[in-house]
This record gives sequence, C-alpha cells and structure tokens, in this order.
Amino acid sequence: MKCLLCGSENTGVVWKCSASDLIEQWKTTFGIDIVEDLTGHSEIALHVCRSCGFSFFDPTLALHEATYSILQEIPWYYLEDKWEYDQALRDLRGISTLVELGCGRGVFVEKAQRLLGVRAIGLDSNVTAVVNGQTCGLNITAMSARDFAQSHRSEFDAVCLFQVLEHVPDPLEFMAVAVSMVRPGGRIVLSVPNAESYLRAGGNLLDMAPHHITKWDRNTLQKLAEMCGISCIRFREEPLSTHQVHGFADS
Ligand SMILES: [Zn+2]
Repeated sequence: MKCLLCGSENTGVVWKCSASDLIEQWKTTFGIDIVEDLTGHSEIALHVCRSCGFSFFDPTLALHEATYSILQEIPWYYLEDKWEYDQALRDLRGISTLVELGCGRGVFVEKAQRLLGVRAIGLDSNVTAVVNGQTCGLNITAMSARDFAQSHRSEFDAVCLFQVLEHVPDPLEFMAVAVSMVRPGGRIVLSVPNAESYLRAGGNLLDMAPHHITKWDRNTLQKLAEMCGISCIRFREEPLSTHQVHGFADS
C-alpha cells in the first residue's frame, strides 16, 4: 500500500487485527456496535512507510457519523477545556479572523470570539453538533472544508484543527485545503495525538482504525509541513493530564 504521506510504495505491515476482534472489543469497552463501520473488511492493518517513517491504517476508513454521535455522548470524549485550546489562544493573540475545521459544537470558536475578539467561523461534518452550536449563536456550519475553501481562499489569519488530522483518510490533501484558506503570513494551529507518547505501546482502541487512521510525531508533522510549503514555527507537547492517567498506566 502506498504511503499516505510521501506516496512511497516502500511500506510494510507491522500489526494487524481481525475485524471481528475489533468489533467485540468496541462492544465490551464502549458498548458501541461498529459492524457497519467495518462492512466489507475482514481486518485492519497498521502500515509503516520505510521512506518517511509515517504510520497509517488500512483500510483508511472513517467512522460513520452515527457512530461519532454515540461516542460523543461519552462524557470524556469531547472535553470543554482542552490543553491545546489555551496554547492556541495564547499564540493567536492579535489576529482578527480564524476558521476552525472540525469544530464540534464550537467550544473553541466561542472561546476565540470571546477571549480574542476575533471573527471566528467553525466547520464540522456532524450536523447535530453544528445545530447545537448555531443554537448558541455561533457562526458554524456543516459544510466540508474543501467546499468552504473554494470561496475563502487566503482569507483567514489562522486556520485551527484540533484532533482532526488523524481521522482524515487523505491528510496531505486535507492540509493543502487548510493552507489554501490562510492569508500569506498567516498561521495553522493543529493538534494531534502524539505517536511518541504512551500511545506507542499500541492497543488503544481509539488510536486505531476506524477511529484514527494516521499516527503523527514531530518528524512526520515536519514532513507534512514541507510538503504543504509551510514552515513549522513551534511544537509543544501536552503534559500528562488526569484523564490520560489510565491510558498511560495501561500502556
Ligand atoms: Zn512515506
């Protein structure tokens, strides 16, 4: 299978799991049935690119929106106060406009408006989340990033994407769309699960397909930036937080 980042054919499988095992684990752990999410696939496999070091799952499946809706009902799934929100708000002082891709019900959009005084727009594919945000008066919409970008080229001071890239089947194309919306000299602020953290141990159901499709670390994010023609200004790693202690201990 071709590398989803650099396109090299020099990739190999380093781990795999049968679809039936995965379905059973989701049922036991979360009480969620993912049979339909895995329709037509008998196993999932983790590939590593020997050329660039990128890791990604095959099949490159995204969870169905209906499954995301059930996951979102789990209290810890969408945290109101994410560490990266505070980092972004600090880094983005002084800007006037931003768009957030994958904004959920708009928690960050609301914070950015209130704390930075910016014109903030959010996009998300989850219609229920979008309607919730709109009800609170936020400027968020269920339009795809690609469609939105068509009429918003080079428009924003910043594009934010928090915990989104790892869910996307074509991260390179997705980032190119994000970059197209930033004005020259503007910024992209993104967060991803750190593949170099305790997640390295593997076995975390939410850090594998069909929930996460790709794994990121400093090197692969740097490579992604190069391929998109942008430069990395800064990396930050989140300290272990209370809600991650169990995952850390299990690893
Ligand atoms: Zn590669």
